[in-house]
Amino acid sequence: MTFPPLREELRGIEPYGAPQLDVPVQLNVNENPYGPSAACIADIAESAAQAAATLNRYPDREFVALREQLASYLSKDTPAGIVPEQVWAANGSNEVMLQLLQAFGGPGRTAVSFAPTYSMYPEYARDTNTRWVAGHRAEDFSLDLDAARDLVKTERPSVVLLPSPNNPTGTALPPEAVAVLCEATGEDGVVVVDEAYGEFRRTGVPSALELLATYRNLVVTRTMSKAFAGAGLRLGYLAADPAICDAIRVVRLPYHLSAVTQAVALAALRHADELLGKVDELRAERDALVDWLRAQQYDVADSDANFVLFGRFADRHAVWQGLLERGVLIRETGPDGWLRVSVGTPDEMAAFRAALTDVNGERA
Ligand code: PMP
Repeated sequence: MTFPPLREELRGIEPYGAPQLDVPVQLNVNENPYGPSAACIADIAESAAQAAATLNRYPDREFVALREQLASYLSKDTPAGIVPEQVWAANGSNEVMLQLLQAFGGPGRTAVSFAPTYSMYPEYARDTNTRWVAGHRAEDFSLDLDAARDLVKTERPSVVLLPSPNNPTGTALPPEAVAVLCEATGEDGVVVVDEAYGEFRRTGVPSALELLATYRNLVVTRTMSKAFAGAGLRLGYLAADPAICDAIRVVRLPYHLSAVTQAVALAALRHADELLGKVDELRAERDALVDWLRAQQYDVADSDANFVLFGRFADRHAVWQGLLERGVLIRETGPDGWLRVSVGTPDEMAAFRAALTDVNGERA
């Protein structure tokens, strides 16, 4: 036995994570480029100070106040509304989804998604000893619904992971796709629609929250990391049937949301209008970026998110490296030949366009 006595299947595996490099233009992890205002910082600091005064005690294990505020925020996206019993939260939506796999996956069970997709999904499956099956997306990264339904019927997954918009392609799912897969999965499984980038959807693309009233096996996850400009906060959440939230309580660690996290998340929610205030600008900047890349003759995936997948490059690593040398960090991810760039401020996007033109030449 080699030391440390790591599980056999984890030996030699690199921990997940994009390079954290100190470069002027950081467009690699789909963060919101806009930080909070002075007034918002002051309110967050005051809330953290109040929480600090209680740190000798464990926090509210059921985070009741936070669930109420998250329910009220989500209610804007569905006529049926969302009640606090339908809400669950954890340290980032990564932790929410790991908890879902802990509760609904496990030995002898299967999780399904459709590649190319978010690279953490197979890791949640691996870490919970859940069998992992990846179906495929069509050429334009949409889901072939007949093939997807067939895969679900054959594999009988207890968890289906459906990001909408998908990472790294930016592709959103129409509500029909979610409905078809909820029906195909049935109540032997849960269908998780990961709306980490949901607030960036183009006009007319509804949230899967609207389907919660129809499908008891549907879970919709969100995060404060992206549109909410709170990546450093680590707060992800979900809406689902109260029975699903109750089931997760069995696997969560006690007091998993610290008093500081709860207080800061509540303060951020009080400033939701400001923190989300740049979403429309970012969507416009995203659409302009797609147009510019297409005008430069690149292949570009349609995007409903705050990033864009573009290509194709014979040597994408060389392009990524060339951009880095010019102070622009993007992400080398997705299918071979493609690169992903997050949407930043207008200045950052101008720097990206200039660097790409410099590295790859004028293509129009
Ligand atoms: N889902 C998707 C599709 C993502 O891209 C990410 C982050 N990159 C997450 C979930 C997790 O985000 P967080 O843990 O910050 O909420």
